[in-house]
Amino acid sequence: MAERLQRSLPAINPDFARRYRFHGGLRLEDCREAASSRPIRPAGIPAQLVLPLQQHIGEPAECLVSPGEHVCKGQLVAQTVGRVSAAVHASTSGTVIAVEPRPVPHPSGLPAPCIVIETDGRDSPAANTPPALDYPNTDTDVLLERIRSAGIVGLGGAGFPTRAKLALHGAIELLLINGVECEPCIACDDGLQRERADEVIEGVRILHRILQPGACVIAVEDNMPEAEQALRAALAECNETGIHVVNVPTLYPTGGERQLIKVLTNREVPSQGFPADIGIICQNVGTAAAVYQAVVKSQPLLSRIVTVSGDGVQEACNLEVLIGTPVSHLIEAAGGYTDHIERLLIGGPMMGYAVNTDAVPVIKTTNCILAVTGRSMPAPPPARPCIRCGKCTEVCPANLLPQQLYWYAHSGNHDTAQDFGLFDCIECGCCAYVCPSHIQLVQYYRHAKTEIWEQEKRKKAADIARARHEARLARLERIKQERAEKLARKKQALSGGNSGDEARQAAIQAALERVRKKKEQAGTTPRNIENLTPEQQRLIDAADQRRRERTRPPQETD
Ligand code: SF4
Ligand code: SF4
Repeated sequence: MAERLQRSLPAINPDFARRYRFHGGLRLEDCREAASSRPIRPAGIPAQLVLPLQQHIGEPAECLVSPGEHVCKGQLVAQTVGRVSAAVHASTSGTVIAVEPRPVPHPSGLPAPCIVIETDGRDSPAANTPPALDYPNTDTDVLLERIRSAGIVGLGGAGFPTRAKLALHGAIELLLINGVECEPCIACDDGLQRERADEVIEGVRILHRILQPGACVIAVEDNMPEAEQALRAALAECNETGIHVVNVPTLYPTGGERQLIKVLTNREVPSQGFPADIGIICQNVGTAAAVYQAVVKSQPLLSRIVTVSGDGVQEACNLEVLIGTPVSHLIEAAGGYTDHIERLLIGGPMMGYAVNTDAVPVIKTTNCILAVTGRSMPAPPPARPCIRCGKCTEVCPANLLPQQLYWYAHSGNHDTAQDFGLFDCIECGCCAYVCPSHIQLVQYYRHAKTEIWEQEKRKKAADIARARHEARLARLERIKQERAEKLARKKQALSGGNSGDEARQAAIQAALERVRKKKEQAGTTPRNIENLTPEQQRLIDAADQRRRERTRPPQETD
């Protein structure tokens, strides 16, 4: 099907000279300057690391450690379960103090199982580090296995395990590296490209070697000139001519995978499909740098760059943060809170969600922490009824009908909401941003999606239980039938005609023979009494009499 789809697609222009428009979108004020004006600096080692077992799309990892155990930096602490899953490693050395549910960064606000490590400050590395790979001369399967074992997931926000994503491909026409920031205020990818362009380029070359696409392009926004320049310089440094750097217009949400593909290729990812269905693989620049660290530096995914911003922190900045670091530690590293914090958001101002504690940890997909006051982001006024103005439809980059989606999600009509493309909604927040009735549309979509996933999970569990029950009934029935057949064969053998008599006689003879042999072995061979002399007969009688005397039961008169 993918091949058929690809044949009908617009051809990819090899020099990427043309740009296309996706539907809708918003021009938003750029507020990343505050964070990107300072170099990336390490956030340091926190007193505790909290590592959720689920930091990615797919099955949660399986915990391998228990409380009291000492772990080293880079040690595997939770392994993958199934094909779509990601391993978790200790980001520094310390002692596991708990494996228990803790608050995690998730819109639901529910706690989830985590490994809690009390750090020792020594940052001692694990002993069994795998060797660095000379990737141009390494088999692609070995490279893929290294990416899998390093626990790398998409760092752009989705968190799809990278190994699984690379396995989705057939023939890839385009490897698209996304260097566009997802939202205003977020500057982590900009900082990475400006300061570590060589790592990004090396990571892209590794991905290029694995996928061997027809073309490869790195896209940045046209308001990121330093990043673009740094990438071009890094490409020139290694004489790489097969990778292009292009800029795209700054229009929210161009950083979305589907929107960026549309802008550069005029292709549209099918509803509920993958970019691979139209011959494209999209990876974030942070993911490319993580691939470089895993393959060339033998380091699993232990840290990432996080933007800390908003008027609720003293100093907006880009920090290199160990995975599992509590948000409170980042806020301290950014100089602490200012007064009157209204909300703490994980993510940017458009797609971020509020958390009610700064004890939640940074996970692999955390790109931004936004602390805001009521001045910069006042609480939304109470929602009013939808007036059917259609503004939300005009700005929806997924070309949906947000008011219809809202209507069906709000009334719990999930089937119809899905018919209206609920799962094509990228939760960009454009519709809610322009809604004159101040309806928090995205919250309704998120809630509906969560309910559908929960229902599917319950249905899957019920299906598995039913299949197990039916298999048990079938097994018991089979055993019963086998027993009945065996019994019938036995009966037939014992009761069927002359041959049955013969069989019975043979069985009796065999049983007598067995008794005789047993007695012989026990030394109780029956005596031959036919040829005894009178004296022998008298002695035997006397012995029998004595034996009877010994075995006679006691009488009352005795
Ligand atoms: S923008 Fe708001 S009020 Fe207007 S149609 Fe959409 S949901 Fe209704
Ligand atoms: S949140 Fe969903 S429905 Fe609203 S504009 Fe974005 S993609 Fe469209």
